[in-house]
Amino acid sequence: MSCKKCVEKPVIKLINSNKTLCKNCFIEYFEKKVKKTIADYNLIDKNDHIIVAASGGKDSITTLYLLNKIFSKRKDVKITALAIDEGIHGYRDKSLEHLKKFCKKYKIILNIYSYKKEFGKSLDKILKTYNGVPCSICGVFRRYLLNAKSRELGATKLATGHNLDDETQSIVMNYFRNSLNVSARLGPITGIIPDKKFIRRIKPLYFLTEKEVTIYSFLMKLLDKFNECPYNHDSYRGKIRDMLNDFEAKYPGTKHGIITTFIQLLPILKEHYKKSNYIKECSSCGEPSSQEKCKSCQYIDEVIKPTL
Ligand code: SF4
Ligand code: ZN
Repeated sequence: MSCKKCVEKPVIKLINSNKTLCKNCFIEYFEKKVKKTIADYNLIDKNDHIIVAASGGKDSITTLYLLNKIFSKRKDVKITALAIDEGIHGYRDKSLEHLKKFCKKYKIILNIYSYKKEFGKSLDKILKTYNGVPCSICGVFRRYLLNAKSRELGATKLATGHNLDDETQSIVMNYFRNSLNVSARLGPITGIIPDKKFIRRIKPLYFLTEKEVTIYSFLMKLLDKFNECPYNHDSYRGKIRDMLNDFEAKYPGTKHGIITTFIQLLPILKEHYKKSNYIKECSSCGEPSSQEKCKSCQYIDEVIKPTL
């Protein structure tokens, strides 16, 4: 079997269209899809300063590489990178090393903020005394810093490497937890109502699967090597991911079905939750929050401060 568009050896079979593509045709397909997502959902405007939330992993490196490739020649759009160093020995230190080299090679400004400096402890240290699920506390701190620091750095939007698999997991998780209001904030560009303290997130890889991103990053030699967080086990998201992967293997096209349906429902959800999604300011730090005190300040008071 050869590529559907030329006669070269195929590297992938696309699930949603059943087409097989060779290396060059796949790269063209992938990049076209990213540009189409940016254009269709108006992800990037003139005078935008896009900060890419980069970890050094395949999704964020691919996002950073492509946004830089597409926009680096434009004077009216600025692309920079922001990384969070959670302090995970043997994992984040390695991926950040790779990210630093990558940014140096492509002349991209990179800012790094650490849990140790911002919260007083690395994640490794926090988890010595905290017995909850690592991703819960880590995810809250990470989102907090990404928003606060990207705003401080003058970002108009924060680009993330979320792909189709990540989004389908979030949709199903929110459905299972009766959290449709949280799903209303999802989509290729996040948020329901604009808020001056909340930097909207854009997801250029939204319609590309995890497998497609992996193959693209491999073909483009964007990754050093695959590295997995040692705390990424037993999370609720991990169980949903396994379930969806299992279903996709048995019934190919399941994840595309979830996303296509969700995209049709999204405008209705956003309209429905417009009034009730009022964003408050945390009484302690002033960051946007849905509660009186934001989750990050709650963790600082309950988990960090008593052990400092
Ligand atoms: Fe943090 Fe969980 Fe991500 Fe590891 S997998 S970096 S613990 S959110
Ligand atoms: Zn707070």
